[in-house]
Amino acid sequence: MRGVGLRLVLALVAVVLPPLASGMAQAPGEAVILSTYGSKMGANHQPRLQRHAGVDFGGQRGAPVLAAADGVVNRLLDYDFGCGRGVVLAHLAFKRYTVYCHMQQALVRVGEGIVRGQTIGLIGTSGSAFGVPHVHFELCTSACASHADGDLGGTRDPLSVADGCFDPRKAYPSDRLVLTFPVQCLWWAWEKYR
Ligand SMILES: [Zn+2]
Repeated sequence: MRGVGLRLVLALVAVVLPPLASGMAQAPGEAVILSTYGSKMGANHQPRLQRHAGVDFGGQRGAPVLAAADGVVNRLLDYDFGCGRGVVLAHLAFKRYTVYCHMQQALVRVGEGIVRGQTIGLIGTSGSAFGVPHVHFELCTSACASHADGDLGGTRDPLSVADGCFDPRKAYPSDRLVLTFPVQCLWWAWEKYR
């Protein structure tokens, strides 16, 4: 029992302590960003050889991966390395695509219409996730199947058009692409246990 209690305390401390202490960035709305676009630091806190083509959001294994905007499922990915199991959404009105990698499981089918905030898969460590459950999130300017480190052509920084955590009460613009974070934010988690 003592071990369980200690683990619980450690888990709480990990959430409460500012993640900056361990090199993580705290994004607005309380999502944990492990590696930013263009960064040479990996989600596992080890240096990357090349620059990062997406943004890595930390999360719990099995937690929902959320669609960052309305779209249509363009492609499902299933690689042993790199992206692992992933989903590509097309945002055709804006000629943009978003990619979500390292899933435990995808929960959508190709051609399916998706709304912002919808669960499209579960967070996992498939592909080259180095055992760190996270969502590698990419913004592409043409249909893509995820980009390796160093391959930034045809990608953009998703955070440059992001509006923080998905808030179901908020009205998002429809005349331009606005992305919301692909993970449930911590305040959602807190509300759940209130
Ligand atoms: Zn990544």
